[in-house]
Amino acid sequence: MTATLLDGKKLSETVRAEARADVEAFVKEHGRAPALEVILVGEDPASQVYTRNKEKASNEIGMRGKLHTLPMDTSENELLALIEKLNHDDDVDGILVQLPVPKHIREQKILDAIDPAKDVDGFHPQNVGLLASGRPNLVPCTPLGCMRLLDLASADLTGARAVVVGRSNIVGKPVAQLLLMRHATVTIAHSRTKDLRAVCNEADVLVAAVGKAQMIRGDYVRPGAIVIDVGINRIDAGTGADGKPKTRLVGDVHFDEAKERASAITPVPGGVGPMTIAYLLQNTILAGRARLADNRG
Ligand code: NDP
Repeated sequence: MTATLLDGKKLSETVRAEARADVEAFVKEHGRAPALEVILVGEDPASQVYTRNKEKASNEIGMRGKLHTLPMDTSENELLALIEKLNHDDDVDGILVQLPVPKHIREQKILDAIDPAKDVDGFHPQNVGLLASGRPNLVPCTPLGCMRLLDLASADLTGARAVVVGRSNIVGKPVAQLLLMRHATVTIAHSRTKDLRAVCNEADVLVAAVGKAQMIRGDYVRPGAIVIDVGINRIDAGTGADGKPKTRLVGDVHFDEAKERASAITPVPGGVGPMTIAYLLQNTILAGRARLADNRG
């Protein structure tokens, strides 16, 4: 069997087009565009790329995206002061602090400080709790992207056996909760799980969010399963014609092996990654709408 490719790049264009239409409606109703403020502390090259992409994607659909780049030695109090200012600015709809923050800043303290109504990453304990109790408000973007990809695969999740490998607060746990809300029977596997291959072999839907290049081999995949690969790992790819070492991106799933057994699979790159930013845009519009409606009510 060769799996159907779940093209996240193409699907993310649909989600962005939906967001663009929502932005137009927002502007008509509120007289301004939804506004997303992205904060980056330090100069981590990957984080610089991610934050610039978030700012750019917002502006491309007519939102107001703004990137605050703060020096590495910014204190926790200075960062908290900026968040406080943005929390109180009625023209700001979404606030996102790019993770990881430098070691001298307590990550949880920062996440707790963001107004839950503007928490477009869905990491504030209030939003985490709402999702856990089946009343989702602002939900983390990557898990939302995974669910939309499952819809693209026309996955019938009711009663399906889903295995999520990874239990992070950012991906593993929230995606498991969304699957549960869609009536899947969900197993969350992690680094202490015994016989991971046997656990994965039970899965009609297999979500890999591990951070280990190509760890999920073909024989982990039940024939006919739908595979969602969240992982983004950079690996060596030999030497280029110019004599310089090359790298390439791969997922947590061994794509070439898994595609021979799965019925549908996401590629890396071009699968879950593009969906994450698209849902950040959606979350910002959602946050703005909900907050402004509350203020009015
Ligand atoms: P974390 O490092 O926070 O979590 C990794 C999880 O994998 C942990 O729960 C860990 O278990 C588990 N794990 C590690 N090794 C094994 C193993 N050998 N067997 C089984 N489970 C294992 O990672 P994230 O959830 O933040 O990210 C996961 C991947 O997804 C990364 O590659 C990241 O780059 C990517 N990512 C992609 C995004 C996108 O937009 N596409 C967005 C966010 C992340 P334990 O808890 O026991 O330590």
